[in-house]
Amino acid sequence: MSNNITLDVGSRFLNYVKIDTQSDPNSNTNPSTEKQKDLSRILVQELLDIGISDAHLDEWGYVYATIPSNSDKKVPTICFCSHVDTSPDCSGANVKPIVHFNWQGNDIILPDDNAQIIKVEEHPDLKSQIGNDIITASGTTLLGADNKAGIAEIMAAAKFLMNNSEIKHGTIKILFTPDEEVGRGTEKVDLEKLGADFAYTMDGESLGTLEDETFSADAVTLTIHGVSTHPGFAIGKLENAMKIAGDILSALPKDTLSPETTEGMEGFIHPTQISGIQESVKLDFIIRDFTVKGLKEKENFLQNIVNQTLEFYPNSSIDFKIIEQYRNMKEVLVNYPHVVDFAMEAIEMTGIRPERRSIRGGTDGSRLSFMGLPCPNIFAGEHAFHSKLEWVSVQDMEKATQVIINLVQIWEKNA
Ligand SMILES: [Zn+2]
Repeated sequence: MSNNITLDVGSRFLNYVKIDTQSDPNSNTNPSTEKQKDLSRILVQELLDIGISDAHLDEWGYVYATIPSNSDKKVPTICFCSHVDTSPDCSGANVKPIVHFNWQGNDIILPDDNAQIIKVEEHPDLKSQIGNDIITASGTTLLGADNKAGIAEIMAAAKFLMNNSEIKHGTIKILFTPDEEVGRGTEKVDLEKLGADFAYTMDGESLGTLEDETFSADAVTLTIHGVSTHPGFAIGKLENAMKIAGDILSALPKDTLSPETTEGMEGFIHPTQISGIQESVKLDFIIRDFTVKGLKEKENFLQNIVNQTLEFYPNSSIDFKIIEQYRNMKEVLVNYPHVVDFAMEAIEMTGIRPERRSIRGGTDGSRLSFMGLPCPNIFAGEHAFHSKLEWVSVQDMEKATQVIINLVQIWEKNA
């Protein structure tokens, strides 16, 4: 069993990463780039070829497919989800994947740019990969294991389940989304059409990990309205919006509440963009915490800085606008503990020690959870994503594939 899966997941992955699917944060279309559909169309054809007859791509770039139930029981419908796009932070064109068979623990120098070296000391997860087959890019692009590892795993598991009908499972839904990397992966998803009760993204990092907790996230936009005058006649009148912005930024604490001074479960206030002239300035922040209460505290903290700053600028004003981005999936998942418990059991069944983690970020699963589809994140084996040093091992992808196969059986057994 395992040999077949190994062959299939590795070769699928090598095919998928060669297709450029980079998304674009500056595009307003859905999907943000048409080329994402190049991979999605191939995935639909492959799903049809393995006998999944309802597989299709919609106009927004989403792939939906159903593996029908083969159980007499009433089993909840489970969805597995991955994203086809790769990060805009690093080129994804003409990816040349390299398999380092039976890797023996040496640093990996990427041939197309010898300055790109995957050093074991900088990638501690490599230490447990000796003897495995490591896949990297060639030095000038990312690899795209984020999230084509997950896609290959779902596809390999789907094929295995379609060919092994003695393995009992309920209805299984497959969902491949565009634009996760630009934060729009769930924008046009049709959950009614999908019809799943629970879901898992296959988009996590290290072997055996499961993420059931993400940041909660808001954005804050300050629009600072100063008082503009001719500088030659400005005495007692000019209130320069750029200086107001500077005062606000310099009032932020130096030793806490920032990405560069926090870790673990601590949140932060992080300015991301500034633009403007003396009359008005727009100042964008992201606010992160693991609880909504923590988010509100940070927003109040920023509001207080704004109020105190304005005391020195009596004729200026500042619009303080909060935009909700996403919420910690744990708030939802805590109501469905078996969703996580079954996944932990499925990981354990493959002979790996499962490890529950939180992410200092968000996932499509955070948004799906709050849209009514509880959705933790299972490891896909991807490492050093969004960089030229990205890597994944065939053996980890095989384990992730087995986790999917185990998990659908656990849901059936417990129905
Ligand atoms: Zn991803």
